[in-house]
Amino acid sequence: MTIQILSPQLANQIAAGEVVERPASVIKELVENSLDAGATRVDIEIDKGGSKLIKIQDNGSGIPKSELNLALSRHATSKLSTLDDLDAILSFGFRGEALASISSVSRLTLTSRTAEQTEAWQAYAEGSDMAVKVIPAAHPVGTTIEAVDLFFNTPARRRFLKSDKTEFTHIDEWLKRIALVKPEIHFTLKHNGKQVRNYRPANNQDQYLMRLAQICGKNFAEQAIEIDCQHEGLTLSGYIQSPFFTSPASDTQFFYVNGRLIRDRLVNHAVRQAFSDHGTGELASYVLMLEIAPHQVDVNVHPAKHEVRFHQSRYVHDYILQALQSALMQVARASMPISEE
Ligand code: ADP
Ligand code: MG
Repeated sequence: MTIQILSPQLANQIAAGEVVERPASVIKELVENSLDAGATRVDIEIDKGGSKLIKIQDNGSGIPKSELNLALSRHATSKLSTLDDLDAILSFGFRGEALASISSVSRLTLTSRTAEQTEAWQAYAEGSDMAVKVIPAAHPVGTTIEAVDLFFNTPARRRFLKSDKTEFTHIDEWLKRIALVKPEIHFTLKHNGKQVRNYRPANNQDQYLMRLAQICGKNFAEQAIEIDCQHEGLTLSGYIQSPFFTSPASDTQFFYVNGRLIRDRLVNHAVRQAFSDHGTGELASYVLMLEIAPHQVDVNVHPAKHEVRFHQSRYVHDYILQALQSALMQVARASMPISEE
């Protein structure tokens, strides 16, 4: 074989292998884009577990007509322009890969309108050079992206899709994770024409506890201890299981760093150790959010961005441990019988 440059479509399909594994990963990328665009409402519609249809509508900033073409191109992003920006990244996206990738493995249309425009436009990419066509459309301010027939042109990947029910579960689980950390956003989910989730905006603690109950169960929400702790640029907030509450083994274990759900050995260790004195250790439930200066943490470790690297990992570990220990201790102490002098 002679050396040839890959066509844009093929290059994008190969890149899609990294970010687009299944319908849930498409939804993750699209909803994160909606949130990056400042949306306060995101409506998700899927058919057949997302393999037939994925449609996301948001009321975010929209994409100007002149940039629709770029939005669908690889390595095109509005969120990053220099390597230094990466140190201070607060948006979900920055690689400029998602739309180009998804568009190369589905029939994707992007319809959008900015507040400055009086009309909306629809864009889609076609052919092996992925030339972008733009046509007039009707749409309120914001963006709708429709991805139909995911992996229709990459049969090997399509075969890896599981049953509609399993794919739906992955989507539902992901939506729970984002809904917990974005309380002010109204999310809805429709499956096969029927609304199955409606997370109304939660703008105060009571409303948040309602969302917590919707997602993590009433039991957890009713007894959870609030964490709200600040120290030298670190903020830890959220809810943890009371030391007096012995729930059945729960999968309510969510830890977010600057709004991203992460899985981190160091964090796990700190949380487990805090609970270990109370006999709940590995099984304890928690929904915790850590806010840290963006330059103190590296999120560019993996394309799916589940891993992070803290620059002062020991310090972060001990901070989490102490914050949780002292909260648990307070609750334990408050419940102790008052001893006679
Ligand atoms: P990234 O999110 O890494 O920048 P994407 O391929 O996901 O890359 O998106 C490319 C660009 O398209 C984004 O940088 C953004 O400017 C624009 N975009 C995508 N989705 C939306 C949306 N829902 N609302 C507004 N702009 C969007
Ligand atoms: Mg993105």
